[in-house]
Amino acid sequence: MSEGARNTRRFFGASSSGAGESGTGSAGYRDGGGGIVVSRSSDVNTGIQDENVLALVFRSINFDPKAVCTVACVSRRLRAVAERVLWRELCISRAPRMVASLTGVPVGGPPPPGRIVGGWPALAKLLLFCCGAASASVPGHSTGVSRFSKTSGRSFLARRCRGDLLYVSDPCEHAAPGADDDVGAYRGVFRGFMRSRTRACLVGRQAALEARVRCPYCGARVWSMVAAGMVPRIAWRRLGAYEGRLEYYVCVSGHLHGNCWLARLTSSDGEHGGGDSEDDDDDASTESGSDDGRAAS
Ligand SMILES: [Zn+2]
Repeated sequence: MSEGARNTRRFFGASSSGAGESGTGSAGYRDGGGGIVVSRSSDVNTGIQDENVLALVFRSINFDPKAVCTVACVSRRLRAVAERVLWRELCISRAPRMVASLTGVPVGGPPPPGRIVGGWPALAKLLLFCCGAASASVPGHSTGVSRFSKTSGRSFLARRCRGDLLYVSDPCEHAAPGADDDVGAYRGVFRGFMRSRTRACLVGRQAALEARVRCPYCGARVWSMVAAGMVPRIAWRRLGAYEGRLEYYVCVSGHLHGNCWLARLTSSDGEHGGGDSEDDDDDASTESGSDDGRAAS
């Protein structure tokens, strides 16, 4: 297995150790559970194993995430195709403008690269899966429709890091067991995190990586932005959360996940969010698929 093929990407907890090798060889013949049967043919680029054919088949089912998971389990080769093509196409189908912004490849342009920091499976999971809040015993779950916004993202950046581009979802609200208030869980992703000011700040402050928390999307280690002292006051105002009662983490690949305690709104104070809607037209929504857009659970 080549060094270049290593990755740490995961989806739904499945670990992956290698990608990119050619040939199914004796890896063989197996019913993938979804009725997909891989032939023993020595030519791996024919029929359903041709990645262009696969992409067309999956487009016809709107890149159903369970089907992509299934095909990725059939063989190493199909796993590689899923990681490089199918998850990417799923992301584009759900959030075309957000993917364009993250990759720098315009909507309708050439295909974005086969690799993205953290991996396409992790980005797909981020689009489709609310991570819940382990600290409040709120489990994660698949989401129907989520809205991601750069405007929201800016509220989570320390003042000196406002030049970074960060997408953050609206908080997904949950009733917490045994609590009067609700828990909001949110998630997001940086563009070009390796070169971001946020990362430079974290490294410059020698912020420690968390010992017990991992990124629920790619499995990488995370920094706590609260521990690093990099949470701006506008973050909890944006969320409508109680002052100081929020936490979020950023992983070394640039995925963000966090939660907050949400103040119950009364009829007289319904306008949280600060009214800054300067670039809402750039929002990416997982709603923007080609059909009814509802992400399959
Ligand atoms: Zn991550």
